[in-house]
Amino acid sequence: MSKKTFNTIVIKVGSSSLTTPQGKLDSKNLKRIASQIASLAHAKKRIILVTSGAIVCGAEKLGLGKPKTIPQKQAAAAVGQSRLMRQYEKAFEEFGLTVAQVLLTRDAISDRERYLNARHTLETLLEEKVVPIVNENDTVAIDEIKIGDNDNLAALTASLVGADLLILLTDVDGFYMPNDEGISYLVPEISEINQDVMDAAGHPSTQLGTGGMVTKIQAAKIVSDAGVYMAIINSRKDGLIEKLVAGEKVGTLFTPKAGKLEGRKRWLAHGLKVEGSLIIDPGAESALAKKGTSLLPVGIKSIKGKFKSGALVSIVDENEKEIARGLVNISSTELSNLIGKKDVGEAVHRDNLVIL
Ligand code: GLU
Repeated sequence: MSKKTFNTIVIKVGSSSLTTPQGKLDSKNLKRIASQIASLAHAKKRIILVTSGAIVCGAEKLGLGKPKTIPQKQAAAAVGQSRLMRQYEKAFEEFGLTVAQVLLTRDAISDRERYLNARHTLETLLEEKVVPIVNENDTVAIDEIKIGDNDNLAALTASLVGADLLILLTDVDGFYMPNDEGISYLVPEISEINQDVMDAAGHPSTQLGTGGMVTKIQAAKIVSDAGVYMAIINSRKDGLIEKLVAGEKVGTLFTPKAGKLEGRKRWLAHGLKVEGSLIIDPGAESALAKKGTSLLPVGIKSIKGKFKSGALVSIVDENEKEIARGLVNISSTELSNLIGKKDVGEAVHRDNLVIL
């Protein structure tokens, strides 16, 4: 592993790490995690915890079993979030640490002003030596505007605060891939998220346990663009977090891309929901990637989806491989009449465009 020092660290705990096989809150594992975080905090590391478990915790209290409807899940989250926080508060108090509850939603991330505001709050909490505990505000976040899973939420949080490392704690030892004989093995380090990695993530037989690897790979892509390292490690083994931070090889480490995106471009690339896509020709592709130009309607071959002007769109090549993302100046209805035409303005201005 590299000699990099990790100072600001986002640690995500999944529901599976906080639940017993009987579906109850696993206070023992919660304490194991809190004690490791406390050691790091006492060693002057800046730690943000992203936790799941609100729904599980609330469902247990309400006797709902596994809640199915959205209102049931939201009610369970409302009950469970405060129970969960009480457990963390108690656990961290033993180590003399204060915690803070931060509930985020997709619109707090996609609105640039609110995004910056969330960053200031988190920064202030860290300066005050408080451990911020983040979750999605499940009680108000309906499906359309939801981030939806805490792997993505944790990655967006790590990018937001410009963390050095994101740790995803789960109930497996790391990321598994099949070898040539089809037998899966634990991969110690991944430096490029290529098709093989994505295929392995989607393959249930190589991914033991309940840790969904698809969202973890999405998280790895987000933080890679932000220059943040990411690790997947087992939450149920003692001392792994500290070993990882000290530079030992544990679990799977994802190393970020060399050139990280600056703040606003990072937010553009991952903070917003993609509303549609523009399929462009090879000439436009090379102008965007090599010359850093704006995207003009003449280079667009077709469009997909319905979007308003100002929406975030994905810019893809003829094989639908994503090349860039950007805020489009023209709605899909208007743009469909301008495709292939010259001198009709810019579809996406270069300042609002990020090459991926
Ligand atoms: N926010 C949800 C909860 O606290 C969990 C989402 C996830 O596990 O990814 O229950």
